[in-house]
Amino acid sequence: MEPSHLLGASFACDCGRRHTVPTEHFLYDTEAFSKLPSLAEKHIGDRGFLVVADQRTFEVAGRRVFETLTAAGLKGAHFLVPDGEDGSPAADDRTRDLIRCQTAPADLYISVGSGVINDLVKWVAYLEDRPYLCVATAASMNGYASANVAATVDGLKVLFHARAPEAIIVHPDIILNAPHELTMSGLGDVLAKSVSSADWKLNQLLFDEYYCQFSVDLLKDLEPVYLDNPEDLREGKEEGIAALFKALLFSSIAMTVTGTSSPASGGEHLISHTLDIVAARDGQTHDLHGRQVGVSSILMAALYERVLAIDQPRFIEPPPQVNEEYWGSLSGIVAGEYQKKLPKLHQAASLLARPEQWRSLQAAIIPNLVAAERLKHCLEQGGGAHRFSDLRRNGQPLSRDGFLLAACNAHQMRARFTVLDLAVLLGMVPDEIEVLCDRWLC
Ligand SMILES: [Zn+2]
Ligand SMILES: [Zn+2]
Repeated sequence: MEPSHLLGASFACDCGRRHTVPTEHFLYDTEAFSKLPSLAEKHIGDRGFLVVADQRTFEVAGRRVFETLTAAGLKGAHFLVPDGEDGSPAADDRTRDLIRCQTAPADLYISVGSGVINDLVKWVAYLEDRPYLCVATAASMNGYASANVAATVDGLKVLFHARAPEAIIVHPDIILNAPHELTMSGLGDVLAKSVSSADWKLNQLLFDEYYCQFSVDLLKDLEPVYLDNPEDLREGKEEGIAALFKALLFSSIAMTVTGTSSPASGGEHLISHTLDIVAARDGQTHDLHGRQVGVSSILMAALYERVLAIDQPRFIEPPPQVNEEYWGSLSGIVAGEYQKKLPKLHQAASLLARPEQWRSLQAAIIPNLVAAERLKHCLEQGGGAHRFSDLRRNGQPLSRDGFLLAACNAHQMRARFTVLDLAVLLGMVPDEIEVLCDRWLC
């Protein structure tokens, strides 16, 4: 399927819900920028447009976007978001306020960048109740078509609903020439798909939760392009990068139409979030989201293989409390999530103790998994992070312990059930996780 078939569409889905894709245009071609004025002009009145970029994205695309619009006679301004302490802008309330203080309200907002700039502009446009267009500068994340903002407010990470961009505009040369590490981060994020949708299926089978096969299948045609030809990404071949970008776009559409991150976020994301919040707690920096997610996805795929190979599972009592020694000052907030999870753990164990339930779980999930071997090969050949030591913490390689502890405790930080919880119930944590880590991530 081409993205154009879905854009702006509203349709009844087999999952029982009506899906609406708020983003109306997706331009991915070398002439994309020349079409900007026609997309923008209908929104622009006295206040004009505002292009928001950071120093780097302004140089690679922002200036051209601004000049294209003004050359077409449209009135507007541009704003460069300053870098934070770690050398790049932050998606937080302070930066949001800075943009709003230093710029006049606009009729139309245009973000030029990827994750953080996109979140900031989406946020400001939402507060001003104006539309925004997104000019993407890297295939680095799956949030382009998302209505959600991931930001830090009063020092806490929050995710909230804002609005999706009206259009996503991509010049392929810019994506091709983006730092390779950003492209590999996008690959890591999109490779989470088979394990995250397996986790989603798990929640449907165990707790009768909402699940949408249509949104899971959106990436089906694109996946083989990068899974089978990862070296195309390393070599910066047009076709591979375009497939990756479209997969990231579909991934964000899947989350937007279902109103949940479940199609693209499971146990591997919990490990990445854990690495993030533990680093923040200690005043340290962490690695790119997609790089952490990619490495964790290899482990989750290996864990699924190990768990589902069990013929007659025996379940143990899950720990009654969170690991305070690990979480430290985060224990309170994590405990709130874990309390919501505990009843699910007991329910899952009693259900899966029935042999026919276990077998139907195996039958539903095994055929749809991508092998750990294939994920590892893809990341390795693509030139991405595929070992825990490839990941950075505070600029240094992440230690084996640093990764293992995150992997073994991550299941406590969100109420959502994942394969990590199955591993806990089967008594595989920490010993089996350690074995799999040494087998797959060294
Ligand atoms: Zn659906
Ligand atoms: Zn992600």
